[in-house]
Amino acid sequence: MTGPTGPADDVAGRAAAAFTQRYGERPAGLWAAPGRANLIGEHTDYNDGFVLPFALPLRTVVAAAPQADGRWTVTSELSDTPIEFGADAIAEPGRVTGWGGYVAGVAWALRDAGHQVPGARLAIASDVPIGSGLSSSAALEAAVLAALVDLGGLDLPTQRGPRLAQRAENAYVGAPTGIMDQSAVIRCRAGHALFLDCRTEAVEHIPFDLAAAGLAVLVVDSRAPHRHADGEYASRRAACERGAALLGVPALRDVPVTDLDAALARLIGSIEAPPGEDVEVVRRRVRHVVTENQRVLDTVELLRAGRLRDVGPLLTASHASMRDDFEITVPEIDTAVEAALAAGAYGARMTGGGFGGCVLALVDAERADAVATAVTAAYAERGYPAPGFHPVTPAPGAHRL
Ligand code: ADP
Ligand code: MG
Repeated sequence: MTGPTGPADDVAGRAAAAFTQRYGERPAGLWAAPGRANLIGEHTDYNDGFVLPFALPLRTVVAAAPQADGRWTVTSELSDTPIEFGADAIAEPGRVTGWGGYVAGVAWALRDAGHQVPGARLAIASDVPIGSGLSSSAALEAAVLAALVDLGGLDLPTQRGPRLAQRAENAYVGAPTGIMDQSAVIRCRAGHALFLDCRTEAVEHIPFDLAAAGLAVLVVDSRAPHRHADGEYASRRAACERGAALLGVPALRDVPVTDLDAALARLIGSIEAPPGEDVEVVRRRVRHVVTENQRVLDTVELLRAGRLRDVGPLLTASHASMRDDFEITVPEIDTAVEAALAAGAYGARMTGGGFGGCVLALVDAERADAVATAVTAAYAERGYPAPGFHPVTPAPGAHRL
């Protein structure tokens, strides 16, 4: 198991060593950006709703120095082959493919926003698991962005970073993501969760000092293969849009939980629904989004009142809603949640888009190992490959080391 501070220290050392080994000199600096977990608020982002992510102590570190010829060279621990590109590669999206696209995409987005992007040598190391839903992609973008901004002395206010990094991922790499990941990895603060209104992009830092309360979040990497996640995501999104259209609101965010019963009743009698359309499914999707938005608001209130343990039941209710109404969990994920709860977690839920990824369990810090052991045993009993564990507390967003 990896602790909250151990790997972060190592990863900076690895990035610096990789830089020196590759380029024969010391880097001009090191820039770090964290992975993130969403405490609560799932599939609410594209419904103009609320999310509450926090930054992880697992992070990506970029060691960097300017490169005088105006070109870019990039190494990553993940790849044997360095990426090299010049100004032509950032003239338009898509010229660099694969993992280098995330780096070139950031340079492109900066240039496209009118900045003079400095050529650079970069070496990347990371402790953020790749493709587990902890946002290694946004961590990479944010660390590279911080490095290029500092190396070039660019005038980019922090609050503009998320949109820029999101453009790199959406427009250059071609991966459709909302604004949550980049907002979290750039704007989160240690000991806090980030309350983000996805409609207005307003953020508020909500105290979430797990360590001070003797608590931790145990992140369980289910290691479940992502099954048809893209198609399922698109169909959930379509059902939400259909629900909003049938209810005559711009987005499901506009249905307050106090109007939920009336809204669900209206959907049953919805005369606009074409024959054969499964209104039952739309009703369940709507119920998840409307109740989930309220759970985010309730969680924020509890955290403001310093009642961290009382958030547990909201996490568990969120999971039940994702399992039963939104239908985005898989057996490995449900197993991890049930085993964590049985082992004494205050609450547990899947985090991320679904069909795999990670589970969060709110636990007494001293119980983290026991809960991990129980989840491992439940996996073994069912013959699932062993899960991964990261006990975490909220860490800072992207910054220079
Ligand atoms: P997630 O963000 O959930 O980890 P994504 O599929 O969005 O998963 O992003 C993973 C991709 O991001 C990787 O396949 C790789 O292309 C890129 N990436 C992330 N971290 C690194 C890294 N340290 N080095 C190289 N590429 C990385
Ligand atoms: Mg990602």
